[in-house]
Amino acid sequence: AGGAAAPPPRQFKLDPRSELRVEVPPDAPLRVRLVAGTAEIFGTELPPEGWVPIPPRSKIAIFTWHGATLELDGVTESEYPSEETPMVIYVNTHAILDARRARARAAAVQGGDLEASQGPRVIVVGPTDSGKSTLCKMLLSWAAKLGWKPTYVDLDIGQGSITIPGCISATPIEKPIDIVDGIPLEMPLVYFYGHPNPSINADVYKVLMKELAKTLERQFSGNAESRAAGMVINTMGWVEGLGYELLLNAIETFKANVVLVLGQEKLWKILKDAVQSKPRIDVVKLQKSEGVVLRNSKYRQKSRGFRIKEYFYGITNDLAPHSNIVNFSDVSVYRIGGGHQAPRSALPIGAEPVADPTRLVAVNISTDMIHTVLAVSYAKEPDEIISSNVAGFIHVTDVDIQRKKLTYIAPCPGDLPSRLLIASSLTWYEA
Ligand code: ATP
Repeated sequence: AGGAAAPPPRQFKLDPRSELRVEVPPDAPLRVRLVAGTAEIFGTELPPEGWVPIPPRSKIAIFTWHGATLELDGVTESEYPSEETPMVIYVNTHAILDARRARARAAAVQGGDLEASQGPRVIVVGPTDSGKSTLCKMLLSWAAKLGWKPTYVDLDIGQGSITIPGCISATPIEKPIDIVDGIPLEMPLVYFYGHPNPSINADVYKVLMKELAKTLERQFSGNAESRAAGMVINTMGWVEGLGYELLLNAIETFKANVVLVLGQEKLWKILKDAVQSKPRIDVVKLQKSEGVVLRNSKYRQKSRGFRIKEYFYGITNDLAPHSNIVNFSDVSVYRIGGGHQAPRSALPIGAEPVADPTRLVAVNISTDMIHTVLAVSYAKEPDEIISSNVAGFIHVTDVDIQRKKLTYIAPCPGDLPSRLLIASSLTWYEA
């Protein structure tokens, strides 16, 4: 795009336990090749031969345990090797979790109780840009490489890594996470909150966590293998005030028994004191990597747009969404948590109006919905919407008030799997 010519391919020789940190620009392709030795990207090994394409906007570290020679081909925003990484600490943490999984499996084989056969439920917490998502990926990929199928739970509605922003979701990880395609999307369990910020309706966020936890609990009780493998839970970077309260809530809701605190001594101390009455929870402080790239709020907002685009067009732009039109009368759109309380006049005399933050509100289709995302609920009836997960998302491209028709794009052709839709504040403007 008019920039400098691409530099020629170049090689880097890495010492054992060091990494090459690379930032890929938004529009130019980059590829990497292993020339000698072994190396991995966030827990997933590079293939011994051939070029691996690195998606645009990626910020990665290619790490080697035993030494490697790497070749880069293409433009980068930065590329530099570093020998200071917390990887040894991270892999030791993985080893401890692995031993717990083995113990849980042994207990299950011997017919032990649910408690003993439960593998580690790890929750990763820390401020923004402390490397939480990255540590989750490594722990999951290392576990999957050993044959475990841990469940990845993503509670980060701002920068989620399973599906679009505004969701809390879970998915089993059955093999190391693909370097190009990311988290597998065959069977994610997704609950829709609809905003990138929990303070808009923290009660709904809590209710959705509870629903997700309940569903996972049910799946675990019938599946000793995933029960022993346990969970790795990613959280938001908001660790003060309401953010902290929601972290405590998440620890409790998902019955986490290992809390990994990244990069903040204070948070570690406070959490340790908060859960000390619960002896079965280990709160562990871990060093953050200096390689984690800082992202400002503008960048975050932009990357939310990209995540929505990727949902419809694919990470490598390899998908083509389908455009479709429905009559207003064919769908019902709801918002969870209108926030408005019943008017005093509608209440018995003397009763105080109470706002029900989880109330379902029917919304009229209007041109305000253009460019927003709607979730397609699995609910059969409107009152099941809050407790139901969602099938997927559509993006509203036009609303014709006169003809009462709504135009949208969806990842698949054909009719919507349900007529019950959930409105959101998530927008994306197709360029
Ligand atoms: P948030 O709370 O804001 O979601 P986070 O704590 O989950 O952030 P990550 O998403 O893990 O942080 O990391 C931020 C960015 O830094 C990511 O793009 C990630 O790929 C990159 N990154 C992490 N570790 C390294 C590293 N060692 N070298 C280079 N880039 C890295």
